[in-house]
Amino acid sequence: SLPTIFVITPTYARLVQKAELTRLSQTFLHVPQIHWIVVEDSPHKTPLVSDLLVKSGLSFTHLHMPTNKDRKLQEGDPSWLKPRGVEQRNEGLRWLREDRRAQPGGDNQQGVVYFADDDNTYSLQIFEEMRSTQRVSVWPVGLVGGMKYERPVIEGGKVIRFHTGWRPSRPFPMDMAGFAVSLKLILANPEACFDGEAPMGFLESSFLQGLVTMDELEPKADNCSKVLVWHTRTEKPKMKREDALQAQGLGSDPAVEG
Ligand code: UDP
Ligand code: MN
Repeated sequence: SLPTIFVITPTYARLVQKAELTRLSQTFLHVPQIHWIVVEDSPHKTPLVSDLLVKSGLSFTHLHMPTNKDRKLQEGDPSWLKPRGVEQRNEGLRWLREDRRAQPGGDNQQGVVYFADDDNTYSLQIFEEMRSTQRVSVWPVGLVGGMKYERPVIEGGKVIRFHTGWRPSRPFPMDMAGFAVSLKLILANPEACFDGEAPMGFLESSFLQGLVTMDELEPKADNCSKVLVWHTRTEKPKMKREDALQAQGLGSDPAVEG
C-alpha cells in the first residue's frame, strides 16, 4: 500500500483563514493516502476550522496549541522578527508520535511527514515526489527568500550546496516547504522538534540538524530542477468600507461566517 503522507499545518484566525483552508483542503482532496493534521494557534478549537474539516471529506486530526504570548508577533512587528507556527508544528509532531505508538501492527512506522503552511501553493506532483522519502527528501521552493526560487544544488545525485539569497552557510538553508521527513526517522528521534528560540532563518535547521546530514538528503523534483511548491503569501484584505459601514450600524452580519 502507498505510504501515508502526514501533513502538519499550523493555522490562525484571520480574515483569510477560511479561504486559505478551503483552497488547501481542496488540493489535498486530490492526493491519495493523505492525513491532514491541522493545529490551530488558539487556546481552543474553533467551530470555523472544525466545520471545515468535517465537511472537507479528508482524513484529519484537529489539534490546537496557542503560541506563547511573548513569542507571538505583535501588530506592527516586522514579519521576520519571530518564527511563526513553531509550537503548532511541535504539537503536531507530539500527536503523531503518540498516535503511531498506539497503532497496532507492523506498518505504523510507514509514512512521510510534511509541514505545509496554510498560505503556500502546492502542486499535486510534490506529494508524489515526497512519498518515496527514505530519510529526508528535498526540492526547490518558489518565491521565497527574496528569490525566484531557492533550491539545493545537485551533483552526482547528491546535494553539494544550496542556491539561496541569504546565509548559505546555515546547516540547512531551506524553507519549511522544501523538505519531507520519513515517519520512521521522526519516531527514531523522539526529541527532534523546532526550536522557537533559534536565530532568524535557523528554524528548519534546528529540526533537521539532529536528523540528517547534508550528504544523506534525497533530491526530488528531477534533481531539484523543478519548482513544485511556492511560498505564496496572501495580502491582508482592507476593511475600510466595512469599518465605515459598521460605524453607521450597517456592517456585515456577524452571524455570517466570512
Ligand atoms: N501561523 C500561526 N500563528 C501565527 C502566525 C502564523 O499559526 O500567529 C501559521 C500560518 O497560518 C502558517 C504558518 O504559521 O501556516 C506560517 O505563517 P506565515 O505564513 O504567516 O509565515 P511566512 O509565510 O511569513 O513565513
Ligand atoms: Mn506563509
